[in-house]
Formats: sequence, structure tokens, C-alpha cells
Amino acid sequence: MKKVVYILGSTRCGTTMFDLVISSHSDCASVGELCFLHKRACGFCGSECKHWVRYSKMLKKPHYYHTAFDVFGADILVDSSKKWRWLKDRAKHEDYEYKVIHVVRNGLDRLRFRKRQDKKIRPYVVSAWVNTYSKCKKLTEKFGGIEVRYEDIVHDETFEKIFNFIGIQYDPKYRRFWEYEHHGLLGSKTAYSLVRAHKGKDSTNNYVDIHGFNLTPRIGHEFLSEKDIDVFNRYGGRKLNKELGYK
Ligand SMILES: [Zn+2]
Repeated sequence: MKKVVYILGSTRCGTTMFDLVISSHSDCASVGELCFLHKRACGFCGSECKHWVRYSKMLKKPHYYHTAFDVFGADILVDSSKKWRWLKDRAKHEDYEYKVIHVVRNGLDRLRFRKRQDKKIRPYVVSAWVNTYSKCKKLTEKFGGIEVRYEDIVHDETFEKIFNFIGIQYDPKYRRFWEYEHHGLLGSKTAYSLVRAHKGKDSTNNYVDIHGFNLTPRIGHEFLSEKDIDVFNRYGGRKLNKELGYK
């Protein structure tokens, strides 16, 4: 039976990395952030991607996955749209086996890219993270899914658990996802920059030049002021971080 691996979570939690490691397995194909079909392009080829050109011609809404199975010819699709609403909607319209993986991350660390022009963290940014977590948690339970931590992306055990859950064989080589072909709709630019750089698509690549080819998670929140941390604590961030086992 065909399966859809659905990666749930908040933005800035490393979901694209998880997507690409899983879809390095030959049974799987990444569709990336399919919910943004109207505004995203293939992370590797851009808007010229032959798979997505074909997809757009063939798509009869709401059969998004049905079309993707045809275009990509895989038994398992990996959708890292993250959004709980999209998952609910897809599951209502398309009858596949859904394997839900909820990726969580230290709420303070993920604020790295959430500062506004004036460099302050807004309360709504924290409340949205807390609310999204509870929606995703409920849905993960409903689908019998699993929760994994972004910080554990460095451990083979994390992927052994994930692959086992999906029902496919894990091999540590999949963590070098840049060595495989991927055509998902771009989520994280950083993740796809590794794939593009490895295939010689980018002559200069900031991330690779600085960090090299690796999956080291970015941990720490030294960029936050005391005031930012106070906002985080007051709007439910500390409580949720504790619940997730972060200090
Ligand atoms: Zn492509």
C-alpha cells in the first residue's frame, strides 16, 4: 500500500533536513512543502523542473498525492508541509496510509530567524509556536505518529526509529542526503544548498563554505536579549520547553 510520510511542526525546526534524509531511500520521493505548490519551485531545478511542470499539467484537485505518486513513481511520498490543517485536509480527500512525524525543537533556539527589524521577539511569535505545538501533538496522536527532536538529527538511532516506523530499512548513508537526487518544493534554502553545492550547481555557497557538508544542528540562543527571554517565558514558551524536556 502506498504511504504518505507527513512531517508536522513549526517553521524553523529542521523539517526539510528530516524530509531529505528520509527521501534519500529509493522507495521514497520528497514533494517538499506541497501546500505551497502555488508559490514554491523545485529546490534543486527551480521552476524549470520537469517533474513539477508535468505535475501541474496532470493535477486534478484535490488529488495532490495521487498525482505525485504518478509523477514521481515512488511507493512513499514525503511531504514536509508542516501545517496541521493541510494534513487534515489531505487525509479527508485522499485515502492513503499516513505516517506522521512531528519534529520539535528548543523554542528559544528556533527564534534565531524570528526577530523583526527592531530585533525584538514579539509575543505572537511565541504564542503561535505554543498553539501550533498543541495542534500538532493532538493530530500526531490521532494518526498514531511519532515525535522526534531536531537536536537528535545527529544520531543514527533517531533515523532508525523513523525508518522503522515508516517500515523501510535505514542505512546511515542516507544522512548524507546531498548525495541523492531530490525534487521537493523548496522548504529550507540551507538544506537544498547542500544538495545543489554537492552536484556543482552553485559555484559559491555560503553555508557549505562555512560549515561544510554536515548535519550539525544549530543549538544555542545567545542572540536573545533578557527581554526576549522574558517574553518567551511569559507567553507559554518556558512551560512548553519544559514539557518537551528542554532546560
Ligand atoms: Zn527538480
